[in-house]
Amino acid sequence: MPKRIFSGAQPTGNIHLGNYLGALRNWVTLQHEYESFFCIVNLHAVTVPQDPAQLKARTFQLARIYLAAGVDPQVSTVFIQSDVPEHAELAWILNCVVRISELERMTQFKDKARKQRENVLAGLLTYPALMASDILLYQTDLVPVGHDQKQHLELTRDLALRFNRDFGETFRIPEAFIPKVGAKILALDDASKKMSKSDENDHQRINLIDDADTIRRKLKRAVTDSGTEVRFDETRPAINNLLSIYQLLTGRSQHDIEAHFDGKGYAFLKSEVADATIDFLRPFQERMNALDDEELRRILRDGAERARSIASATLQQVKDRMGLVGSMNLG
Ligand code: ATP
Ligand code: MG
Repeated sequence: MPKRIFSGAQPTGNIHLGNYLGALRNWVTLQHEYESFFCIVNLHAVTVPQDPAQLKARTFQLARIYLAAGVDPQVSTVFIQSDVPEHAELAWILNCVVRISELERMTQFKDKARKQRENVLAGLLTYPALMASDILLYQTDLVPVGHDQKQHLELTRDLALRFNRDFGETFRIPEAFIPKVGAKILALDDASKKMSKSDENDHQRINLIDDADTIRRKLKRAVTDSGTEVRFDETRPAINNLLSIYQLLTGRSQHDIEAHFDGKGYAFLKSEVADATIDFLRPFQERMNALDDEELRRILRDGAERARSIASATLQQVKDRMGLVGSMNLG
């Protein structure tokens, strides 16, 4: 079997530079080495309160973003999660493999549940079982994600190992691919938090659809650390974050970048990061808007069909192993 990758993003909120640098960017390079599945995980998006009209619009916008980022539908399978019902079906089964105590330990659940206060949906707790199902359905080898998804990946591995042990060898055991730089892009307003789609403060992130003025304004307001020196230093997270963004967008070496900023202040750093971001996003946004609806529909339809052919084979195997028979199994 070819080596496979699977990854996805939720069509919640505005997709930002952190999502791109932590995840999408690596999908684009890895797609040529692996058979790749990139999913718009809309079933995950309904684990928190949401607006249906917005969810619809964001689903297609996210598909455009995948393609504008460089995901090539000729070599990768791009699809919408709810087009492949096997995801929800395997998720149910994995809900009967995972333990409540494991789900309650997940930091994403704890963080997001805290924000909802009461009325926390059961789906928010069982989110990792759906994510495990996404990955395991495709017999995935590698999952390129940001650092925040590491814990969910470990749980996915545990569930796959447990299933294989209890019901027989069924799932390939996936590994996380977490980049050295960019796996955790920090919020612009608070270096103790990650840049995040669901944060109510739009100034904490640079959205991939932001215009030049907005980008400059957000970067001007970005927090910095004490001191004045501009160099890579993890003990000064805000400056380090801006430098990491600059490094990833320009492709320049750390040494080269430190020489470029030597003796310069924070205002210069911010304006250089703004320029690099704008230079990157301008053609990106043009590519997003150039794609017509008919073409997008075709890509997503073909993607769903291809994904289903693989997902249904895995699910059938899972059901056989568990003794979940249907009428056709009689006799
Ligand atoms: P939400 O707040 O709705 O959970 P999110 O910003 O965390 O949104 P997701 O759709 O949950 O986005 O994640 C999509 C991908 O982006 C995942 O691989 C995740 O690890 C990665 N990612 C999310 N935030 C960052 C970040 N700040 N830096 C690097 N990678 C990130
Ligand atoms: Mg997230």
